[in-house]
Amino acid sequence: QRDEVVTIQFPNGSSTQINTGLFVSNKFISSESGKSFEVFNPTNGKVICRVAEASAKDVDNAVQAARDAFEQSWGLHVNGFERARLLNKLADLMEKEGDTLAMLEALDNGKTLAMAKAADVPKSIQCLRYYAGWADKIHGKTIEVNDDTNLVYTRHEPIGVCAQIIPWNFPLLMLAWKIGPALATGNTIVMKTAEQTPLSALKVCELIVQAGFPPGVFNIVMGFGPTTGAALSSHMGVDKIAFTGSTAVGRHILKSASESNLKKTQLQQITLELGGKSPNIIFDDADIAQAIKWSNFGIYFNHGQCCAAGSRIFVQESIYPKFIEEFSKISSQMSVGDPFHETTFQGPQISQLQFDRIMNHIEIGKKDAKLLYGGNRKGEEGYFIEQTVFTDVPEDSRIMKEEIFGPVVVINTFKDEDEVIRRANSTEYGLAAGIFTRDLSRAHRVARRLQAGTVWINHYNDYAMNVPFGGYKQSGIGRELGKYALANYTSIKSVNINLVLCLS
Ligand code: ADP
Repeated sequence: QRDEVVTIQFPNGSSTQINTGLFVSNKFISSESGKSFEVFNPTNGKVICRVAEASAKDVDNAVQAARDAFEQSWGLHVNGFERARLLNKLADLMEKEGDTLAMLEALDNGKTLAMAKAADVPKSIQCLRYYAGWADKIHGKTIEVNDDTNLVYTRHEPIGVCAQIIPWNFPLLMLAWKIGPALATGNTIVMKTAEQTPLSALKVCELIVQAGFPPGVFNIVMGFGPTTGAALSSHMGVDKIAFTGSTAVGRHILKSASESNLKKTQLQQITLELGGKSPNIIFDDADIAQAIKWSNFGIYFNHGQCCAAGSRIFVQESIYPKFIEEFSKISSQMSVGDPFHETTFQGPQISQLQFDRIMNHIEIGKKDAKLLYGGNRKGEEGYFIEQTVFTDVPEDSRIMKEEIFGPVVVINTFKDEDEVIRRANSTEYGLAAGIFTRDLSRAHRVARRLQAGTVWINHYNDYAMNVPFGGYKQSGIGRELGKYALANYTSIKSVNINLVLCLS
């Protein structure tokens, strides 16, 4: 048992208490080594608090707790109605704690409080309610075979202990996307939160207990990728792994999963949501004002720290001058600053490391392309970066090919449809794409030819919990959200009955 409760003071005068231990079997505990690590506020680079750091031994304990719960109190022992009730209860409690959760997101991640309140928190709650709705509707089929001498039925059973590794860009929302379908289908979880942003998940742990989930159904180990994350993803006691993060780490996780016990299992037992360099295409018949508004949101939402960010904008030649003029004007009006301030659109980047990576890409861009706007650090403390636009970017430039994960966009021109489709698809990624046009047949034609898991037409970065999300090519394996995600968390069993013998 660990009783390291800390008081978190928010800049707006509010405060809350959280327990900073690992969360195993519905208890907050110290790590066996007693180790902890610092959590930083990206607005000023200062330490918010320390949280427990899980070793491989702690990961073992959490996996064992999840295994025990799966075999004794969850899994096949609890029906869908009860799973739905508990998920709905958790959603209700999160609603009650909505303001605190939003403030924790803003403090820990640097996203604006306004956006956390408008999007992260309500969407997370909606996600849990959506999957609560599925919990009592998961069932198999009956199949008749051999002239009625056999009856076969299928069962959709939970897979078992799921390892879920999440990133820092949407700490609460990624937690909800992961636990919703896993718990609705009867699995147990060991989650590793991102080392940069563990705080909102710790608050959720309190609510898990209050909601009445049996101990061990949901466990959290905190720590770093190469240690805690690697111990979890290669663990022999884990039946399924779901990961959201960079393509480089996703590749690593796939390898360690296949080298451990997962090598013989089906691909559905490894789901990966990875990086992107998504194209956003503006045809000359588009509603330009709307195209500019959504394209701006497409790249700058969440400070560009969005795997689906529309980071490669292609504008048809005749409207290009007007587009970039207006686009730059909007960018210059977006306020970058204190995430707790009501009118701020963009807060700091998550960390010094990300800040340095983005600034490095900006320096490369300055050499390879034309800097239209931005390109600088903003302010003296924290990790703030100006909204940045590059034009005339060569196709083989690193800023054209690599995911920057910051407020940096490239805007190039194109002549015709075939050319822009070829260029849009010319990437190792395939997470999302945008199309702006008033011509409906062109919209469908182009959507069909783009290699991307999501295509937005006349909007961008618009997500719904019942719509599948995931990547083509190196942007991932499997789909999250919607009914599709349930398949990631169930194994199909065929029960085959010889009726002749049963009747005799
Ligand atoms: P980002 O670059 O956005 O931080 P990462 O892919 O590095 O994304 O991190 C996403 C999540 O994966 C984090 O929780 C991180 O700790 C974890 N992670 C990083 N490296 C590994 C690894 N080798 N094995 C398992 N998890 C890892």
